[in-house]
Amino acid sequence: MSQVFDVIVVGLGGMGSAAAYHLAARGSRVLGLERFSPPHDRGSSHGRSRVIRQAYFEGAAYVPLLLRAYELWERIERDAGVRILTVTGGLMVGSRDGRVVEGSIRSARAHGLAHEILDASEIRRRFPPLTPAPGDIALYENRAGFVDPEESIRAHLGRAAALGATFRFEEEVLSWEALSDDGVVVRATSGVFEAGRLVLAPGPWAPRLLADLGLPLAVERQVLYWFEPTQPIDAFRPDRFPIYIWETEPGREFYGFPAQQGPPGGVKVAFFREGEPADPERPDRVVRAEEVERMRDALRDRIPSLGGRLIHAATCFYTTTPDHAFVLGLHPRHRNVAVASPCSGHGFKFASVVGEILADLAREGSTRHPIDIFDPSRFS
Ligand SMILES: Cc1cc2nc3c(=O)[nH]c(=O)nc-3n(C[C@H](O)[C@H](O)[C@H](O)COP(=O)(O)OP(=O)(O)OC[C@H]3O[C@@H](n4cnc5c(N)ncnc54)[C@H](O)[C@@H]3O)c2cc1C
Repeated sequence: MSQVFDVIVVGLGGMGSAAAYHLAARGSRVLGLERFSPPHDRGSSHGRSRVIRQAYFEGAAYVPLLLRAYELWERIERDAGVRILTVTGGLMVGSRDGRVVEGSIRSARAHGLAHEILDASEIRRRFPPLTPAPGDIALYENRAGFVDPEESIRAHLGRAAALGATFRFEEEVLSWEALSDDGVVVRATSGVFEAGRLVLAPGPWAPRLLADLGLPLAVERQVLYWFEPTQPIDAFRPDRFPIYIWETEPGREFYGFPAQQGPPGGVKVAFFREGEPADPERPDRVVRAEEVERMRDALRDRIPSLGGRLIHAATCFYTTTPDHAFVLGLHPRHRNVAVASPCSGHGFKFASVVGEILADLAREGSTRHPIDIFDPSRFS
């Protein structure tokens, strides 16, 4: 049996699944290769929720991509007939001159995004579980919310398959080679595959599959916590409780979500970028008591009713660059290879538009989207 493919997508997590969908929707013959059976909990795209917001404190340059990401989340929801995005409103909390509040205000103003500034007493009045210190303020944006990573992967893969994409799961890619500007060869556990173009979206395995780029990527273990509230959980329902990011001291944040229906139950919180160096080949999935205690310490004065029982905890990997911007673009030496490591802990909300960008790059060799700040060769 020999099948002809235009594009091979390696890694069918958050980004690769979206790329496969956009490629298949444009008529490319797609082969997707994935080491596990997605969605799975071995990489970066599990845990039922990922923050999405528009007044982006990390930089106003991300805002046009976010606006497009929202449109494309709605498109895949329509196409697949599922709900991925839940809009709850979002609070960026901290001191006025901290990076979270200050940066969010700057992005909101630069792009004319609707927002409100709330002082501590207004935050408490509108969202009773939150008890900010008198000096804290927040930017509130009503378009923020969360996306469901597992549902996103299922929807993108399901639609891509319906549009003709071929997927091989439990198929580990061992190596790849660009033969010319119009051919690639991929060696995997069950054989050798060929196509015209290649999209590499290996998540925390990027240091391996993108080794030839010599990127300064740090893979980090992060922990997610689900606590049982000590007040009725209704106060945390998505129609009355927002997503939030809370800067507790300069450069240190935790964030959280409303209560979701279904397992594991409780209310999810986590630290942003407080990870330890990790190797996805030797994952340490045991969450230690002192880690739980650190999370409880951050919550104690700020969301005291999340001091109940720990219902569940899970680990997940960030793949972080020194400037915290993504790696997304054409391979510097192979115009027919596109690489994607949109992580640094904040990539999922962009998965829908990253899929479109990867399809642009693989099919046209360029994209109209502003991705210069993600240039894979910026570190060399
Ligand atoms: C705890 C945590 C919280 C986060 N919170 C947010 C948030 O609130 N908002 C936000 O926007 N982002 C958030 N992120 C970041 C976001 O989840 C990531 O940016 C995103 O999941 C990265 O997707 P990916 O496709 O690059 O990686 P993955 O989804 O991990 O996909 C990579 C895939 O490649 C496969 N693969 C790897 N190597 C091979 C190989 N050799 N052969 C075949 N297949 C291979 C893997 O099995 C995997 O399925 C968070 C991440 C974590 C871990």
